This record gives sequence, C-alpha cells and structure tokens, in this order.
Amino acid sequence: MSLADQLSLNGKSAIVTGSTSGIGHAIADCFAAAGANVTINGFGDAGEIETTRAAMADKHGVDIRYSPADMTKPDEIAAMVADAEAAHDGLDILVNNAGIQFVSPVEAFPIEKWNAILAIDLSAAFHSIRAAVPGMKKRGFGRIINTASAHALVASPFKAGYVSAKHGVGGLTKTVAVEVAEHGITVNAICPGYVWTPLVEKQIPDTAKARGITEEQVKRDVLLAAQPTKEFVTVDEIADLALFLTTPSARSITGTLISIDGGWTAA
Ligand code: NAD
Repeated sequence: MSLADQLSLNGKSAIVTGSTSGIGHAIADCFAAAGANVTINGFGDAGEIETTRAAMADKHGVDIRYSPADMTKPDEIAAMVADAEAAHDGLDILVNNAGIQFVSPVEAFPIEKWNAILAIDLSAAFHSIRAAVPGMKKRGFGRIINTASAHALVASPFKAGYVSAKHGVGGLTKTVAVEVAEHGITVNAICPGYVWTPLVEKQIPDTAKARGITEEQVKRDVLLAAQPTKEFVTVDEIADLALFLTTPSARSITGTLISIDGGWTAA
C-alpha cells in the first residue's frame, strides 16, 4: 500500500490530550482531516471549546467528542479512555500531549509547580496508557504517541520540573514499547524543539526575568539560539509526523524518541 493510501484514518479512533490549544489541537485536527473520530481534551472557555469541536466535526465529517478530564486526576483520565472506547468502538490511537511549563531557578522552584508538572507532563501519560493498553492488546493494534520535547534528551537551566518530566516520558515510552511490542502496538515520543504556541509565548516573560534580559533577546538569543535552523517548528509539521506514526509503514518504529527540532539536539 502506498504511503498516500495509508494516511487515511477512516474508521479509526483517537484521543489527543491537551488538544484545546497548540500542538494538540493541530494533531487532533490532522487526525480528523484524515477521517478519524477524535476525543479532544484540555482546558479553556467552554463556549470556545464547543465551537471548535462542532467546527472540526462539521469540516471533516467525523465524530469529535470533548472530554474535560483533568490530567492531574487518574480517575478522570481512566474515564476519558473508557468513554472514548465506548463511543468510538475501541481506541486505536492515544496521543499524550497535555503539558505545562514553569521556569525558575531550582532553589526557588515552587513545590506545587514541581508536583503539577510531574502530574500533567509525566504521570498523566502513565495513567492513560495503563487504561488504554488492555483494549489495544485485545484488538491487536495500537499507536501511542507521547509529545515529549528536546528536553527529553537535553537540559536547559531553570526548567528542573519540565526537563525531569520529559526525560521520564522518554523512559515510559521505551518501557511500554518493549512490553507491548508483540501486540501490534507501537509507542513513540515526538521530541519537538521550540514550536510557536501559547506555551512558548507564556514562558518568555519569566525567562527574561530569570536571565535579566529583554523578551526579544529571549526569542533570538535563548530560544532560537539552540535551534540551528533559526526558525520555530510549526504545529502542522508535528501533526504530520504524528500521522505518519499511525500508518502501517511505521509499525517497526517503536520505543523511539524522534527529534523534530531544527537540529537543536544534533548541535
Ligand atoms: P499549549 O499550552 O498550547 O497547550 C497545552 C494543552 O494542555 C492545552 O490544551 C491545555 O488546556 C492542556 N492542559 C494543561 N493542563 C491540563 C490538565 N491539567 N488537564 C488537561 N489538559 C491540560 O502548549 P503546547 O506548546 O501546544 O504544548 C503541547 C505539548 O507539547 C506539551 O506536552 C509540551 O510540553 C510539548 N512541547 C511544546 C513545545 C513548544 O515549543 N511549544 C516544545 C516541545 C514540547
């Protein structure tokens, strides 16, 4: 089958956590455009989320459901997976994408921020994988994609919580991949460099404060300094990579941390 033929997700079902914004929204929209029924998730204004949900369903002619599950709450995560399985006749694709960031010198890092980052950026992926794997095993097919980060591979100062959580996502990805490898399930982590989204935009003032420089200097000398292309990655590039990972041709790609970072971690 040609790759073009494989890119159809007709009849497949997906969950994309943290898809009310940024990278997650782009992945959810890409999967819906390819024909998948998708459960979207994340925080935001209820009216705006409903407008986005209805527009995606209408535009792509698929079923789009919204789960308000809070990724800090294991029971809500399990319920999100069970609801998606019931509504869409099983779950084929799970994208663990919800994430938060906080920037601070380690000695001043608020304990509640550390706990929240570990819960949302790492533990949530464990809880959803734990809930989704039994159904995927039964069906002999699954695609689990974790949105990690270049910070799953390398560190930056002032990001103790985020770098620790994302390195943990790398370990979780590899471990589950080898556990489920004989069940038709692949587990991979996508490791973006700097992508232009609200998460990046929000951390610019704090990074400026922590380093004592201007916001323009943060963009040019801190963020894109690490990225040899000198360009932000786009959310659509990440969505297309995720779509490729769902195809039959990607069945041997598992347990891998895939960089999409403009050369950052090669430099
Ligand atoms: P974003 O802030 O635009 O989106 C984050 C999403 O997570 C939102 O939908 C938000 O509502 C959701 N979310 C936050 N807390 C939640 C919770 N408790 N429960 C449920 N949903 C919650 O951010 P983004 O840049 O699109 O980031 C998405 C993922 O990509 C994150 O895991 C992030 O670490 C990773 N990432 C981003 C970049 C980047 O440069 N933007 C780079 C590498 C990795």
